[in-house]
Amino acid sequence: AEIDTLDLLVLGVILLGTIAYFTKGSLWGVVKDPYASSFAANAGQKTGRTRNFIEKMDETNKNCIVFYGSQTGTAEDYASRLAKEGKSRYGLNTIVADLEDYDFENLDEFPSDKIVMFVLATYGEGEPTDNAVEFYEHIRSDDVSFSNGSSLENLKYVAFGLGNNTYEHYNSVVRRVDESLTKLGATRIGVAGEGDDGAGTMEEDFLAWKDPMWSALAESMGLEEREAIYEPTFSIVDRDTLTADSEEVYLGEPNKGYLQGTPKGPFNAQNPYTAEVAESRELFKSKDRSCIHMEIDVSGSNLSYQTGDHVAVWPSNAGFQVDQFLKTLGLTEKRNHVISIKALEPTAKVPFPTPTTYDAIARYHMEICAPVSRQMISTLAPFSPNEKIKAEMTRLGSDKEYFHEKTGHSFYNIAQFLTVLSEGATWDNIPFSAFIEGLNKLQPRYYSISSSSLVQPKKVAITAVVETQVLPSQEAPFRGVATHYLAALADKFNKGAKSDAYDLTYQIVGPRSRHTGTHLPVHIRHSNFKLPSDPSRPIIMIGPGTGVAPFRAFVQERAKQARDGVEVGKTLLFFGSRNANEDYLYESEWAEYKEALGDAFELVTAFSRDTAKKVYVQHRLKEKSEEVNALLQKKALFYVCGDAARMAREVNTTLAQIIAEKRKITPAKADEVVKSMRAANQYQEDVW
Ligand code: FAD
Repeated sequence: AEIDTLDLLVLGVILLGTIAYFTKGSLWGVVKDPYASSFAANAGQKTGRTRNFIEKMDETNKNCIVFYGSQTGTAEDYASRLAKEGKSRYGLNTIVADLEDYDFENLDEFPSDKIVMFVLATYGEGEPTDNAVEFYEHIRSDDVSFSNGSSLENLKYVAFGLGNNTYEHYNSVVRRVDESLTKLGATRIGVAGEGDDGAGTMEEDFLAWKDPMWSALAESMGLEEREAIYEPTFSIVDRDTLTADSEEVYLGEPNKGYLQGTPKGPFNAQNPYTAEVAESRELFKSKDRSCIHMEIDVSGSNLSYQTGDHVAVWPSNAGFQVDQFLKTLGLTEKRNHVISIKALEPTAKVPFPTPTTYDAIARYHMEICAPVSRQMISTLAPFSPNEKIKAEMTRLGSDKEYFHEKTGHSFYNIAQFLTVLSEGATWDNIPFSAFIEGLNKLQPRYYSISSSSLVQPKKVAITAVVETQVLPSQEAPFRGVATHYLAALADKFNKGAKSDAYDLTYQIVGPRSRHTGTHLPVHIRHSNFKLPSDPSRPIIMIGPGTGVAPFRAFVQERAKQARDGVEVGKTLLFFGSRNANEDYLYESEWAEYKEALGDAFELVTAFSRDTAKKVYVQHRLKEKSEEVNALLQKKALFYVCGDAARMAREVNTTLAQIIAEKRKITPAKADEVVKSMRAANQYQEDVW
């Protein structure tokens, strides 16, 4: 048969599609990250890039490559810090690299006089981060091979992992990679470090690991330590011909679409959707604590969610904090000056779009409210206003005990710390690059969606406790960045144009006052925390405090199903809070759901401060041993949401006790049962 033009066209399209699929678009240099493309000067992302890292190192004359496996950016930050320190203290020629950007077939050809560093986060249930999956699977595969066989005897490496000990598979990615590399004959320099986010010691774990690692590496490679000279990674270029009103200047817009006033989808972790607030109300009846229920409308976007997903909120810093930061650095006068930022190294990425202003950087892009790190103090010491302060800064930066003694309980942010230390003197000698490198990028905050997508597919509900921490050494309490931003929005939504909830003066109208009404930039993250596909299957939910958020969604969904005549299984919810009068979340709604669900719905409450003896959800769970065990034997799914550090662990322990007792098996055997429930997704957690 003849092939006509249409057939050829169709075939061509299929072929192109297939190539695009299998190469993930890399053949024609499609940049996977639209945000990065507008401003990241990352050589690795350019068209025609090499995936051969050894070649890349040769071309750029490097002898140390720092690979990161990062999900939220922390591992990437640590990788940059290692690269920088290697350069300034030991004269190494370093490069930071995304694991995803390279292939590892030639790992065995890596020269023995160079070093590979791995900074690897463990994600979820012991999984590698998305960008590390390919590397991880390659190195872990049973029949792993490289260009010349399967030995890595030339390879020298160092390794640091980022994990959370509240998860069962603590730091398992770094452990397994280390194990595989060792097995393949590679030589690790120093110990494989492990940072623990669960204990809140990540930063100190990193610092404690890296010093002996550097000594061991210096010895192995014959490196000489020199006095660390600060070399900026970025140069700041004044753009005198531009003003903050110029249309090409970014005033906090995350990307070009936003700058031009026409943000386009797809909306995702690089490109938030600015959603309109559709509803907002207070859930607590308390004088001094607040919990916001907010609903945002995503109907104008491609965003969709499923019950159990997370919504990410993109906050900005409070005006009060921005002012303090700029004042400390002597930048108040220049706050609206336009600057561009140039990476001085081909492998460094400018983390936000430019040209921009100091004000926009501090407000939209930098985590300026987080507690100051000891390493940052070390870096800034040489730029102190006088010798006395410099001596103190140097000591604080190098002496862990002294640092904790002086600052351990105050959690000063960078501006507070510098102000207190210098007794008000201005820190105008610090190259601004030090902040771009040393402070984290302002991160979106995640919230477990508290609405059902079956009930309201285009309206996403958030249940957020406004974070306030009273600190003994400070006048004003610490106020959570995102939750106070939400509080300011809620305030505006409910009363009018107020942006100064708690006197923090957020720029809630957004860059160029484009957020008319009340708007919030968000994206959706899909999760595996899901209702069973069969609604008749029973479920047990443990959700104290805001941990109840996804369960409000679950119960809302099942109530709708029941009203629609679907058969719904037992829906058992354990909720806990301080007391029934103040912080009983969604109290009146539960009654409505009960009406729809009848006996299928049971709510068990634990109010810790209403009784002489503190009662928590795990105690109530224990009291319900009989029913819980019976439901589990009827294949009930078991869900836990909320506090990872204590509650989730205690619930796990309690469940194992219940199983041991009711099934008359040993505690060890019961632990195995719980583990296998987790492995089979019968036990699901959404904890933070
Ligand atoms: P941040 O500014 O990030 O501060 C967080 C905490 O760090 C503070 O409370 C304080 O203890 C400490 N801190 C930080 N800086 C300082 C400082 N300088 N001095 C003293 N202390 C400091 N939260 C909810 O309310 N509801 C939810 O449904 C929910 N779901 C979540 C789901 C997931 C998957 C995850 C990861 C988190 C979830 N969270 C939820 C938590 C939420 O993401 C935020 O962490 C929380 O709201 C605090 O954000 P924030 O910006 O207000 O506080």
